[in-house]
Amino acid sequence: MRPTGALHLGHLVGVLTQWATYCDTADAYFEIADIHAYTTEFDDPKKIRDSRNDMVAVWLAAGVDPGKSTIFLQSGVPEISELHVLLSMITPVAWLERVPTYKGQIEALGSQIATYGFLGYPLLQLCDVAAFRGEFVPVGKDQQAHLEFGREVVRRFNYLYGDGQALLVEPQATLSEFPEVPGTDGRKMSKSYDNAIFIADDEETTTKKVRSMITDPQKIRRGDPGRPEVCPVFALWRFVNPLRLDGIAEGCRSGRLGCVQDKTEFAEELNAYLRPIRERYAVYRDDPGSVERIVEEGTARAREVASGVLAGVKTAMRLT
Ligand code: SF4
Repeated sequence: MRPTGALHLGHLVGVLTQWATYCDTADAYFEIADIHAYTTEFDDPKKIRDSRNDMVAVWLAAGVDPGKSTIFLQSGVPEISELHVLLSMITPVAWLERVPTYKGQIEALGSQIATYGFLGYPLLQLCDVAAFRGEFVPVGKDQQAHLEFGREVVRRFNYLYGDGQALLVEPQATLSEFPEVPGTDGRKMSKSYDNAIFIADDEETTTKKVRSMITDPQKIRRGDPGRPEVCPVFALWRFVNPLRLDGIAEGCRSGRLGCVQDKTEFAEELNAYLRPIRERYAVYRDDPGSVERIVEEGTARAREVASGVLAGVKTAMRLT
């Protein structure tokens, strides 16, 4: 995850709750992708630096367990960058140019992001995984092409230097159902759309944001039949208290439930849901030293593994 600003409800219910489960089911690595952050935020290094600890504080508050996983800083594992340089020697530019997000992102964000590093972004992503012999990567549908590209590079490497062995591991996608979480205006929750409910928000701010949420535009007053399937408040109930979905859908459709009442109840439930996470977050936020220690320890562990993999790569390439 790139440290590029405050984390919100979309990160929490869309990604972090799943990450927390991986701590019990896998030898999981979670990367603070600070070098990746420069692909789009290269003119704001302070933001990247300032976001780092805060982002990890939210991970920990959400249940990512550093005792059962490895939380590491990408720039603290230079073996990843060295592997990136070495694999770049065998990566055809055309393979990178045809990754769909390359052109799509440039169209969306402007040509100023079309740097050498941005073109190579999927290769660096591969190295984030290959440096640890990562077998599975939870990806959303939009990232599948990156992984497919990465697998091709690994195959090429193994073919050129493997001497019949799979020196690097071809990572596989575990297609995660990363649900799209709507923001207060109904679009995907995102800091850049100014529609996010942040973990760091206080309860009053959260309540105000929920009150300002759009609902079904056809439901103007209580009594009007509504359509929960088009309403972002209803979509958020699904994450916060799915047990209430049936009752709310029925009340909305019949007109017995008004939007003001629904939003008032939802704000209360959302604050109750976030309260323990916010309390844990505050503990880590106010003790940056403990977060730094967790990251330092994880980064040291990650370096140990990555340096072994890099040594194998250099030997295979006759660089040692
Ligand atoms: S009653 Fe609730 S679910 Fe129905 S439109 Fe209003 S806010 Fe949405």
